[in-house]
Amino acid sequence: LASLLNDPTLLVTRAYVAGEFVDGDNGTFAVTNPARGDVIADVADLSRAQVADAIAKAEAAQKDWAKWTGKERAAVLRRWFDLMMEHQDDLGTILTAEMGKPLAEARGEIAYGASFIEFFAEEAKRVYGETIPGHQRDKRITVIRQPIGVAASITPWNFPNAMITRKAGPALAAGCSMVARPAKETPLSALVLGELAKRAGIPDGVFSVVTSSSASEIGKEFCDNPAVRKLTFTGSTEVGRILLRQAADQVMKCSMELGGNAPFIVFDDADLDAAVEGAIMCKFRNNGQTCVCANRIYVQAGVYDAFAEKLADRLSTMKVGDGLEEDTNFGPLINAGAVDKVREHIDDALSKGGKITFGGSQHNLGGTFFQPTIITGATQDMQVATDETFGPMAPLFKFEDEDEVIAMANDTIFGLASYFYAKDLSRVYKVAEALEYGIIGVNTGIISTEVAPFGGVKQSGLGREGSSHGIDEFLEMKYICMSV
Ligand code: ADP
Repeated sequence: LASLLNDPTLLVTRAYVAGEFVDGDNGTFAVTNPARGDVIADVADLSRAQVADAIAKAEAAQKDWAKWTGKERAAVLRRWFDLMMEHQDDLGTILTAEMGKPLAEARGEIAYGASFIEFFAEEAKRVYGETIPGHQRDKRITVIRQPIGVAASITPWNFPNAMITRKAGPALAAGCSMVARPAKETPLSALVLGELAKRAGIPDGVFSVVTSSSASEIGKEFCDNPAVRKLTFTGSTEVGRILLRQAADQVMKCSMELGGNAPFIVFDDADLDAAVEGAIMCKFRNNGQTCVCANRIYVQAGVYDAFAEKLADRLSTMKVGDGLEEDTNFGPLINAGAVDKVREHIDDALSKGGKITFGGSQHNLGGTFFQPTIITGATQDMQVATDETFGPMAPLFKFEDEDEVIAMANDTIFGLASYFYAKDLSRVYKVAEALEYGIIGVNTGIISTEVAPFGGVKQSGLGREGSSHGIDEFLEMKYICMSV
């Protein structure tokens, strides 16, 4: 992998703790390239005691970092952003090698990830307070917002860069320090952020990356350690619940970006070509492995057959392959378990009357490559209706009217992203207001941006990432009442 990089020193395999690159007391764990199955790096496997040490150093470093002016913090964060963009190609190559997404998507993720550092660098200067007219003649009331302290993050493999920057940007801008535990599948994209943080001049201990093969041990340390005041997690609802329970002992402030089960609705007045394009972006981006990917595609009866046909035509132009090859559209799935899940959803759908009209099986490239798949005749009793596939399978459900589809779309414990295509204005308002989701894409399949608040309702999460609201998650409000 190092030989593919313009700057081979960006391939970091030791953990980044308080400005030092350290070996793991538990040895190393292997990182593999999902496209080829070969080991590309052995990464430091830290012990729980080493993570506790990183937290202690983060606590010490945070005291001074909190005293920096917003403008001072903004300057080093801006340098961090600049370095990410300067090395965008190398960061993209590392990301593709360990995660599998095509290079173009990986480079896109680096730009997207970096944008959170840029945005929150700017926000660092705008952590405003309030003055409130006193409740008595002698009283003066001021509200200030202060960094909460040490933040700990746990992130998944599907966006190895952006899920970390989305948390580190606001945390550091607010004046918190952060200890980041990346997924064991994708530690290299996190470690290179440590290297670039060092080059940018982010003070030692303000940002650390603790790599470990044991997620639950690290999760326990994050929740039990009294120095940690904030836990920010992206991952499954199942693990989110575990962490919330653990965090309860310390009444720790938590942000949770959890699972989705996004509906994608095509009404009969939609621009069908645009809807097909949106579905391709939304369902098949990252090979279906995002929490905002369309999971259920509802198509109104009058346009159902036409939509299914156009979607298949469009998919037939796309190439499955190694993400490191420039013309690849869809890479491999992350691991064998991910392939099993897609298979399970397909088998379940077939047993309940669904039909495969495109793809449906493992790709002839072998390994974890899977054909993009369309299933028609999907129904609400299928597993895919309640459970995220996290893979390249598009189930098409048929519906007759608005009320019916709104009820079906909301019939889930999740509430992250949803999408619909329609032209009628009153329909657009009515449906957007009725969908119980934190994010609504209207006539678009792509909704992620650093300038908007990303997050879910119901069991999809707590809190928001991005936008001016994102920094609130790392701030405490303090009210000062003064008698004059
Ligand atoms: P995904 O399906 O995206 O991997 P998970 O919720 O399983 O979603 O994992 C998200 C992140 O949480 C990963 O980095 C994983 O290692 C970590 N994780 C899994 N289980 C636990 C746990 N019990 N405590 C802390 N972190 C965990």
